[in-house]
Amino acid sequence: MPRIAVIEHDLCKPKDCHLLCLRICPLVRTGVKAIEVNEETGKPIIAESLCMGCGLCVKKCPFHAISIVNVPEELEEDCVHRYGPNAFKLYRLPIPKPGKVLGIIGANGTGKSTSLAILSGRLKPNLGKYDEPPEWDDIIRFFRGSELQPYFSKLAEDRLRAVLKPQHVDLLAKKLKGTVAQLLKVADERGALDEIVDELELKDIMNRDVRKLSGGELQRLAVGIVALREADVYLFDEPSSYLDVYQRVKVAKLIRSLAREDKYVIVVEHDLAVLDYISDLVCVIYGEPGVFGVVSMPRGVGVGINEYLDGYLPAENMRIRKEAIRFDLRPLERIWKPEEKMLSWPRMVKVLGDFKLTVEPGSAHKGEVIGIVGPNGIGKTTFIRMLAGELEPDEGYVPLREKLKVSYKPQYILPEYDGTVRNMLVEEGGPEATSAWFRSEVLRPLRIEKLMDRYVKELSGGELQSVYIATCLAKDAKIYLIDEPMAYLDVEQRLTVARVVRHIAEERGAVVFIVEHDIIAHDFIADTLMVFTGRPGIEGHALSPMGLKKGMNLFLKELGITFRRDKHSGRPRVNKEGSYLDRLQKSIGEYYYVER
Ligand code: ADP
Ligand code: ADP
Ligand code: SF4
Ligand code: SF4
Repeated sequence: MPRIAVIEHDLCKPKDCHLLCLRICPLVRTGVKAIEVNEETGKPIIAESLCMGCGLCVKKCPFHAISIVNVPEELEEDCVHRYGPNAFKLYRLPIPKPGKVLGIIGANGTGKSTSLAILSGRLKPNLGKYDEPPEWDDIIRFFRGSELQPYFSKLAEDRLRAVLKPQHVDLLAKKLKGTVAQLLKVADERGALDEIVDELELKDIMNRDVRKLSGGELQRLAVGIVALREADVYLFDEPSSYLDVYQRVKVAKLIRSLAREDKYVIVVEHDLAVLDYISDLVCVIYGEPGVFGVVSMPRGVGVGINEYLDGYLPAENMRIRKEAIRFDLRPLERIWKPEEKMLSWPRMVKVLGDFKLTVEPGSAHKGEVIGIVGPNGIGKTTFIRMLAGELEPDEGYVPLREKLKVSYKPQYILPEYDGTVRNMLVEEGGPEATSAWFRSEVLRPLRIEKLMDRYVKELSGGELQSVYIATCLAKDAKIYLIDEPMAYLDVEQRLTVARVVRHIAEERGAVVFIVEHDIIAHDFIADTLMVFTGRPGIEGHALSPMGLKKGMNLFLKELGITFRRDKHSGRPRVNKEGSYLDRLQKSIGEYYYVER
């Protein structure tokens, strides 16, 4: 079986370990050069053809820099790209179809962005021959018999213009200059400015400087800029992060409308409801994060997402996960004992400048995870600060014996910390961050152990999110406010975060408030739901925590969106507006739990 050896360049520190891998490799000891030192970098290189896969170096490397995996023989001929010796390897590519939206789903680190970079023409695929990169003719020949052949023929001749919305919109504010209006005008090659401004509801922020935009505003601006271009290929890397549910549906509609006639539209997205709504077809990418990725053949969107959730791809005869992911159609209402009540609040009112928040009376219990739904700027943070005793309400009061400690994960995550993950965790999370318990309950499941010696500034979006969540959970607090934890995380990471957060809430007897716009995530994480309604920035109305079913129905009714449940997996699917089910569900007031 062919073998892939990957050494993470950032993690490998030969000076600190005195080239331990080289010293312990049994083959090297007998004179076989399975590991050699690159003279330029001083770092080891593993010869995959010689290595016998004993795994000793993987186990002993003090910085967890080495991975060695076997891959099926038949894959080898399908290698599309390798970044270098002992680097990540991508097999096959998503096959886009003209006039259709192709969705891509898969774990982080398995090559989704690499695929987008290749399909957009930014990265020329080397077919694994990084030391002797092939010419376009060879590449086109490689894709013979596939729909990718005409695609790459055009790309090679500059006859295919591609535009990409990057993943990490938080960083755009630093790259772009000017006001929203200026940026959109420059991008407007299709003469569709008014239409797009209208669809993305950008009118009110047209004169705002890009550096003053919130994450959700930046996301809509970035989608707008791409949609205004006259291109043949439109690529979107996670278009829904930071948007509320209503905005997600709007953006999804806009992206769908770009798939005209011969246009290709390709979208990477982890919010399953959005991916389902946007795509016609879906490709699953599976493999070993950071080591290799394999792209599946495109499938119809419904079947494709179900196969992904099942963890088994029949066409490839490939199991990608041990267990299937299933959804609960009838969430159990948790019953709380009176002594578990941690805090109660009466009706409260708070005015801050032009904004007025009214909170209905409610209570929270030890170990309770309260999901919060509602738009941004509606008073969620204000509410939590009142609960914690940091802000005095103008009407009503919070009967607290002492100030409750609050730990907060902000919505926007920026790689600003100047140091390693370990330093950030200890400095900002406190001593608990390095305890054995925290390591096994939080850091290991969130896959942070491997990142400990990496610099925060060099982390990917998903890695940074996990580190921010862990830092928040390391603090000993009674109230946790975790704002949009799922952005940039893949589906499995979202499930892991849900599990970890629930566990911490139980262990510490704390209350956790989770603000999240991926509403399917609330299925996994929340016991109860708190709905915030009103007009962002003007007036907010916070309802008491209620059961998931009641809360979802109330929230979705306000938005006018209904979900049906997929028969096979139980996952929620957005109904087309005005469809038979949409009308039926609205008439019976069941916006979220109807089985079909
Ligand atoms: P995804 O989008 O699925 O999260 P990516 O395509 O961004 O995955 O990355 C897949 C793997 O390729 C990651 O392990 C990443 O570190 C690695 N990688 C990305 N760019 C480079 C590069 N220029 N050189 C070496 N490795 C890279
Ligand atoms: P959310 O957490 O739902 O995004 P916040 O509670 O942070 O909302 O804010 C609600 C509204 O109150 C926003 O419009 C915000 O600009 C406004 N606001 C928050 N703090 C102040 C303040 N100290 N002075 C004036 N307005 C404020
Ligand atoms: Fe040391 Fe690990 Fe690098 Fe080998 S791979 S030189 S053991 S840090
Ligand atoms: Fe050597 Fe074993 Fe590591 Fe291969 S897996 S490089 S044989 S120590």
